[in-house]
Amino acid sequence: MRNKISSILFLERIGDKLTVEGWVRTRRDSKGGFSFIEINDGSCLQNLQVIADGSLSNYQTEILRLQTGCSVRVTGIVAPSQGKGQTVELQAEFIDVIGWSDPDQYSLQKKRHSFEFLRTIAHLRPRTNTFGAIARVRNAMSIAIHSFFQDRGFLYIHTPIITGSDCEGAGEMFKVTTLDLAQVPQKDGHIDFEKDFFGAPAHLTVSGQLEAEIYALALGDVYTFGPTFRAENSNTSRHLAEFWMVEPEMAFCDLEGDVGMATAFLKYVFTYVLEHCREDMAFFNRFMDSTIIETLERIISKDFETVSYGEAVRILSEAKEGFEFPVAWGTDLQSEHERYLCEKVFKGPIVVIDYPKEIKAFYMKVNQDNKTVRAMDVLVPKVGEIIGGSQREDDHDILLQRIKDMGLEPDNYWWYLELRKFGSVPHAGFGLGFERLIQFVTGMTNIRDVIPFPRTPGNISF
Ligand code: ATP
Ligand code: MN
Repeated sequence: MRNKISSILFLERIGDKLTVEGWVRTRRDSKGGFSFIEINDGSCLQNLQVIADGSLSNYQTEILRLQTGCSVRVTGIVAPSQGKGQTVELQAEFIDVIGWSDPDQYSLQKKRHSFEFLRTIAHLRPRTNTFGAIARVRNAMSIAIHSFFQDRGFLYIHTPIITGSDCEGAGEMFKVTTLDLAQVPQKDGHIDFEKDFFGAPAHLTVSGQLEAEIYALALGDVYTFGPTFRAENSNTSRHLAEFWMVEPEMAFCDLEGDVGMATAFLKYVFTYVLEHCREDMAFFNRFMDSTIIETLERIISKDFETVSYGEAVRILSEAKEGFEFPVAWGTDLQSEHERYLCEKVFKGPIVVIDYPKEIKAFYMKVNQDNKTVRAMDVLVPKVGEIIGGSQREDDHDILLQRIKDMGLEPDNYWWYLELRKFGSVPHAGFGLGFERLIQFVTGMTNIRDVIPFPRTPGNISF
């Protein structure tokens, strides 16, 4: 039976005879005629130290040829370790080599590789400490997201990935088609989509929100957690073409309720990850950013500051900072502005509410001033926006006018409008970029390093 290294290190099962299976990280030979072999099986950051005595039958023929990357099965006795760095070790009785690894060809060597290089070997990078830790943190955060909403009675809804609507115009969309690109059928000078798979243009979704609203207006509280696609050609450290988004949608909820849910949610996920991923978080705190644990603990223990867009613009226009993009009422906040507010002014995450209606989506509820909408963005230091949300317009006639004003075609939104005709209620929700949240939690500076297989402009090799 295979034992996980995490359980051996955690439970310190001294005297037990156990079997582990994993990959060799290093081998060191001692002058006393035995070897230390460090094994990792992905269950935790720390390796298990195996002592391979020279008396093992395959010591000369195999053990002394073990290299980084080889896979092995080891059966042995757990014993207290004399060496530094671990409390227990495994004194091997048998070591079977399962798979060899030729050091002249294996591109993952003991030395520290750059993240750029590791992206070119995405099939091997999960075998490094950093990417193993990210995979475990990402897993824990996914579970935290589900348990937060499940504990509060939200239903997990699966919204479509292929969509016929061009949604909220949240970003450029990828087309989905089976038409022959070398010979696209034409009709009256246009592409004849009747000949396409769906008989109409289709795209990959940029957000599940509009469909989530359908379910919220029937079932109360719902959320989605799935992949989202944006064809924006922005090569930044915070944008992916394929990313995961969490989108709760709540009936009988206003903007204040939405902000309250978003901040409770963040605190829950941060608490969960600090509790469940201590070892990995200590690793990130040591090697990526020595402030992350302290920052997360501080966020958990205090309230989020809320500031209106108008107030944020006033602060920014009085700032002595030389911004690349000028700030004036009516312009969208750029990442540099968001970071300045969090890092220099409020020294922590903030919630910005009441944005001008011109720069926000058509579905956001218009405030009494008729100039701003009930929008909220959660901004955090170093990353900027991680959540964008709003109370939705629940008045049929105002919504119809907004759709027209924005130059959209009301017929495309007939069902969305109809939700405002039959039992309409105030409702609100938000979208959280999962990878940006992981960036914030781990201190990883590039979003390409917190998703297993990043999709970015010009890059689809894995
Ligand atoms: P930004 O202005 O930062 O590009 P946005 O305002 O276009 O983001 P929203 O449409 O509000 O983003 O999406 C909700 C959340 O999804 C954002 O707060 C962010 O966390 C995340 N997000 C948006 N676009 C991307 C992307 N291309 N890659 C990764 N996460 C993204
Ligand atoms: Mn946004």
